[in-house]
Amino acid sequence: MSENRKNSGVRIDKNTSSLEAIKARAPHWIHHTRNDETYWGGVIYLPECDCSECGFTVTRERKRCPHCGCLMW
Ligand SMILES: [Zn+2]
Repeated sequence: MSENRKNSGVRIDKNTSSLEAIKARAPHWIHHTRNDETYWGGVIYLPECDCSECGFTVTRERKRCPHCGCLMW
């Protein structure tokens, strides 16, 4: 590893905190809701949902977002 000698004196600090933040924020679908007094509970969960990452709306849940391509939980 001759690279080590060339880069001696240069410290590279790995930013692990940003990586942890990405792991904690798992992509998921945010379902649309509609208030309906006649329905039990007063709220209807619609099949349409938004991507938590890019906000793209789909007609129903998919394994991954067709817009940004992230896998959903
Ligand atoms: Zn998306």
